[in-house]
Amino acid sequence: MKIVLATSNKHKVQEINDIVSGSGVEFILPPDGFDPVENGETFEENSKIKAEEAWKISKTWTLADDSGLCIEGLNSRPGIHSARYAQTPEKRIERVLKEMEGIKNRKAKFVCAMTLINPEGNVEFACRGICEGNIAYTPAGKNGFGYDPIFLVGDRTMAELSEEEKNKISHRSSALHQVINYLSKIKC
Ligand code: IMP
Repeated sequence: MKIVLATSNKHKVQEINDIVSGSGVEFILPPDGFDPVENGETFEENSKIKAEEAWKISKTWTLADDSGLCIEGLNSRPGIHSARYAQTPEKRIERVLKEMEGIKNRKAKFVCAMTLINPEGNVEFACRGICEGNIAYTPAGKNGFGYDPIFLVGDRTMAELSEEEKNKISHRSSALHQVINYLSKIKC
């Protein structure tokens, strides 16, 4: 079964296909013209906006995700602003570490909301995947992307995990497995 993934990022399609390999589901890019305005106030709202925009140009099964980092000691920031918290990934990490100075509670979670739209254009399934961890004092590791170098799971940062290790525990894979499980139940 092919499902349009509401993104223009080929790497995201690849990453998600790696996670679901063997499930019988294959994700593909939307047709040209996918350009959603992500002006929701929650991960759930933004994933629904993206899924509906991609459905409008594909009219088939469509899945969207919206993710970000929520830090307890920062009142859940950067949250839905994760991608735009500063101009570059390095500067975003710098900003978070600066804001965390003097804050003892370093608990954080990566959140991923997913929305699945059916060929009729209705929300068929929605879910949220979470990966809990802590914010490190200094960045470490070269793998992954975004905030991975400062997100500690146990005694290693996400950027120190292999892709395979990350895919077992990530917020994205948790949400995705819920979607695949749902699809297997309705036997599409
Ligand atoms: P998106 O909604 O998946 O595009 O994620 C939005 C932003 O959240 C990204 O640009 C990253 O800054 C951050 N983010 C989401 N998932 C991850 C992850 O797995 N590792 C590190 N940062 C992430």
